Amino acid sequence: MTITRRDFSRLAAFGAAAHLIPASARAQSSEKKIGYAVIGLGRIAGHFIAGAHATNNSQITALVSGHRDKAEKIAAQNNIPSSSIYSYENFDEIARNPAVDAVYVALPNSMHAEYTIRAAKAGKHVLCEKPMATSVEDCEKMIAACKAANKKLMVAYRCHYEPTNLRSIKLIRDGVLGQVQTIQSAFGFNIAKGEWRLSKALAGGGPLYDVGIYSLNACRYLTGEEPGHISAYSSVIDHDGRFNEVEENVSWSMHFPSGILASCSTTYGANMGGYFRVYGSKGWFQVDNAFAYDGLHLRGELSGKQLDEPNPSKDPSHFQAESEHFSHCLQNNLEPQSPGEEGLRDMQYIAQIYKSAGIAV
Ligand code: NAD
Repeated sequence: MTITRRDFSRLAAFGAAAHLIPASARAQSSEKKIGYAVIGLGRIAGHFIAGAHATNNSQITALVSGHRDKAEKIAAQNNIPSSSIYSYENFDEIARNPAVDAVYVALPNSMHAEYTIRAAKAGKHVLCEKPMATSVEDCEKMIAACKAANKKLMVAYRCHYEPTNLRSIKLIRDGVLGQVQTIQSAFGFNIAKGEWRLSKALAGGGPLYDVGIYSLNACRYLTGEEPGHISAYSSVIDHDGRFNEVEENVSWSMHFPSGILASCSTTYGANMGGYFRVYGSKGWFQVDNAFAYDGLHLRGELSGKQLDEPNPSKDPSHFQAESEHFSHCLQNNLEPQSPGEEGLRDMQYIAQIYKSAGIAV
C-alpha cells in the first residue's frame, strides 16, 4: 500500500504509523537494537522470535522457561548465551542483565499480571500478550507497576500494526464507506481437550478472552468509538467435558455513541475464520482472515466500485511490525499505540459482556 505524508499523519493519530517508516530510516533512529527476554516458550513465542529477528531494531537476548532443555535448544538457535536463560524462580535476576531492555510475556493469561509486574520491578519495559490479564484489577495493577517503575507497557494487539486492518480503518476515516451503520465480526475455533485455555484459573474465561477479544477490539478501532451499551448471550452445547469451567459460545451486541451497531460472536466449538464486515452508506467491505497471521483478504463494493485486495504478506510479518513498533517507541521515548490502557478497556468490556450474559467473573 502507498502511504502519503497526509495518510501517515492520519495513521499517526491512530498511532500505528511508526512501522510504516522505511526500514533504512528506522534503523538510523538508534544504533542499539532493543533486547527482549521472552517469557513462556510456547506457540506464540516462536512467531514472536521469528518476527523480532526480521526487524532492524529488535533482537532476542534472553529466555525465561520452566523447561531448561527446551530453553537451551531455542537459545542455541538464536545465539543467546546460557547465562541469559532464566527460570520462573530466578526471573528477577534479569534486573542485572543489561542485554535485556524489555520482556515479552507469552504465558497463559492469568500469569500475565505477575510477570509484567515483576519485569517492571526489575527495571524492564513490557510487551504483554493479549488478553492483558484476567481481571480489570490486574490490568490496573500492571499499569500502576509500569508507571511506578517509569517503564513502558504495550499490549501485543498485532492487528493494530497490520496493513489490511490499517487500510480498513483508513477507508472508514477517509469517508470512502460513507456513514458506517453496522459491523459484524466473529472469530473462534474447535478446541481440543486438555488445553490450559479450558481452565478458568489459567485463562480467566473461554473464547471471549482468547479470540472474541479480536472482534471486540476491531469494532473499537474500526469505529474509533467506545461502546456505550452492551448486551450478550452465552451457551454450552457440547457437554463433553471441555466446558466445565468456561463458556463455549458468546455472542454480543454493542451500541456505539454515533449509533453504529456491532454484532459479534465467538466460539470454542467450531472453526470460524476470523472476519469483520462493515456496512456504510456508500457500500460495504469485509476482511476475511482478519485476525489470522497471514492470508488476509479485503473485498467489497464502495460507490459501485469493486474492491479486491488480497494481502500477500506471510507470517511472521505481524510480529515483525509489532516488535518494530514497540522497539521504535522505546528508542524514541514514544507511547506505544496499544498501551496498557487499551488492554484495560477491553477487559472492562469483557466484564460487561459476561455480566450481561449471566456469567460470573
Ligand atoms: P502455549 O500453551 O503454546 O504456550 C504457553 C507457554 O507457557 C508454554 O511455554 C508453557 O510451558 C508455559 N507455561 C508456564 N506455566 C504454565 C502453566 N501453568 N500452564 C500452561 N503453560 C504454562 O500458549 P500460546 O498459544 O503461546 O499462548 C500464550 C499467550 O499468548 C496467551 O495469553 C494467548 O492469549 C496469547 N496468544 C496471542 C496470540 C496473538 O496472535 N497475539 C496468538 C496465540 C496466543
